[in-house]
Amino acid sequence: MHREDGYRDRSVLIHGKFRSEKWDFQDHILPPITTAVAFRLRSAQRGADAFQQFANPGVDRDTAKPIYIYDRLDEPCVGLLEETLAFAEKGECAVCFGTGMASVSAAIGIHVRTGDHVVFHPAIYGCTYSHIVNWLSRFGVGHTAIRMHDLEALRAAIRPETRVVYFESPCNPTMELVDLEAVVRLVAEVNEGREPERRVVTVIDNTFASPYGQRPITMGVDYVVHSLTKHISGFGASMGGVVVGPRTSETALLLYRKDFGGSMTPDTAWRILTYGLPTLAMRIEHQQDTAQRVAEFLELQPTVASVSYPGLDSFPQKALAQRQMRDIDGDFAPGAMIFFTMKGDPDQSYRAAIQVCDHLATNALSVTLAVSLGQIRTLVEHPASMTHSTIPPDEQAKAGIVPGGVRLSIGLEDERDILRDLESALASVGA
Ligand SMILES: *Cc1c(COP(=O)(O)O)cnc(C)c1O
Repeated sequence: MHREDGYRDRSVLIHGKFRSEKWDFQDHILPPITTAVAFRLRSAQRGADAFQQFANPGVDRDTAKPIYIYDRLDEPCVGLLEETLAFAEKGECAVCFGTGMASVSAAIGIHVRTGDHVVFHPAIYGCTYSHIVNWLSRFGVGHTAIRMHDLEALRAAIRPETRVVYFESPCNPTMELVDLEAVVRLVAEVNEGREPERRVVTVIDNTFASPYGQRPITMGVDYVVHSLTKHISGFGASMGGVVVGPRTSETALLLYRKDFGGSMTPDTAWRILTYGLPTLAMRIEHQQDTAQRVAEFLELQPTVASVSYPGLDSFPQKALAQRQMRDIDGDFAPGAMIFFTMKGDPDQSYRAAIQVCDHLATNALSVTLAVSLGQIRTLVEHPASMTHSTIPPDEQAKAGIVPGGVRLSIGLEDERDILRDLESALASVGA
């Protein structure tokens, strides 16, 4: 029996999941923070026990009292955050990393070796694309990009040597959705008759929706990764990542983190436990209300060609959005991210999008031209030339990352100010 049993996520995320006998500091209202890189080992035996215990699949990390050795291996504040994130995503275990990309590389890296193959959806975070295409290929790991709406094409793309099916939903930046349950069903069929070590695993980057708005593990996805830098840390003041997955993956994730070195600092974990997670539900709820209004406003603007936001009636995958984007209370949660495109041929629309960004950068208070997302400040950026510029133009086109596309991450400013700033930027086009 855990203290949080029977409480709603909203409350548990404020208090964390750390009032357990396992920790020496269950009376701390805020999580403790330590700055020691190495820990005193009271005896040689305790030192040996510590190394024996680390990443040992025979040790139940949920109940065993941890013996700390060195921060890169494991650390109390990060451990507290991991328990709370596993709770938030309804996974069996969570392992945190120094950045979102460190967690993306770990989620894929623990499953592949030379000769293996990764299938991914082409609308994807630019650095994830680059990680798979530029780096994994150097280690002899192949890849196929496939639009996962076409389930038969996905089935055909999965080869005997495929180990990972990787996607985002909503996709960055286009807000297209992948049908999680359909992909899970298909992969389960492919896995029938496969040896356990040759099984294909599904990995979703859930950064856009956050665990407030979507919990993919409850829909059968094997792994969730997050850039904690975004909605979960929430204030744009820390970087971090996490992989949430089955208990059987914990050892490999801890060893991967130990040996590749992408560990999270205690300070980051403390900030996320103290500020990020406790305010997650409240922030996104408010931001999502504003996003709905901004999306409806953008649809009416004469210079805007299209608006992609799951809360709009015009959203092509409305039924799917209603099905899988559900908040912690079960209500529809279309999120705080919007993608819109400017009118005109590719060249005109590109110039219009740049004009909107530049006008906002020069004149706006409530909208900031900056990459990143999920902050309390509203951010705007131009994916084709910024966050997704590592993806070649023909691949961008396939993924719907058009030259005239603009991405908005809605913050907590007064909605009327956001609308005013956007209105004047859009009015400046062609003026
Ligand atoms: C930002 C981002 C990442 C990478 O996270 P970092 O914390 O910047 O390393 C991965 N996926 C998505 C969807 C992101 O938005």
